Amino acid sequence: MSKILVIATRNAGKIVEFRRILDAISEGAIELVGIDQFPELVDVEETGATFEENALLKARYSAAMTGLPAISDDSGLCIDALGGSPGIFSARWAGTHGNDKANCEKVLDELKEVKDENRGAHFICVAALVMPDGREKVAEGRFEGTILHRAIGDQGFGYDPIFLPRGMSISSAQLSAEEKDAVSHRGKSLRAIAPHVIEMLGGLG
Ligand code: IMP
Repeated sequence: MSKILVIATRNAGKIVEFRRILDAISEGAIELVGIDQFPELVDVEETGATFEENALLKARYSAAMTGLPAISDDSGLCIDALGGSPGIFSARWAGTHGNDKANCEKVLDELKEVKDENRGAHFICVAALVMPDGREKVAEGRFEGTILHRAIGDQGFGYDPIFLPRGMSISSAQLSAEEKDAVSHRGKSLRAIAPHVIEMLGGLG
């Protein structure tokens, strides 16, 4: 296998989803390598003002440091009643980066007086592909739903236990991996960017 794509994230939940979705699309023709394989890489500060800027920052850094094509995403939960927050600050909403339980509890607390009809929210994911020669592609996906009144389910990661996907009666953390990929923001953005990944890496052959 000669086609290598670096997955520019350290989020274990995301890595699992990236591998699942990209493996299915590329039929195993692309070798997906995590950034843990490159000890010299440090964490990129997410200084961008948008999901797209942050996704590009991470992929550009990994492509420049490794000399390999790199894919990254920036994603988050946007809650109507909070004016779109936590948005790009989703991973560190309760203070510590990546404390999923504390983040969910903070959101539930902030929405405790908010009625069902005003609990609308959506996840956004922007996937970014950066080639070592500087070519770039981005693709966005959205996942609509509402915020539950308590955490339910133990699949997925992040805010999945408190997110009720539109048209469903179970939380995002009760969906199987395949069910989540079919409707999720990450599934949509990765499926949208996949043809560009395959083309820029020179096809599947
Ligand atoms: P990022 O690593 O800066 O993109 O942060 C993304 C954060 O948004 C994660 O740490 C989660 O808190 C949240 N998030 C993104 N995608 C999902 C998802 O599919 N389910 C639940 N939470 C998510």
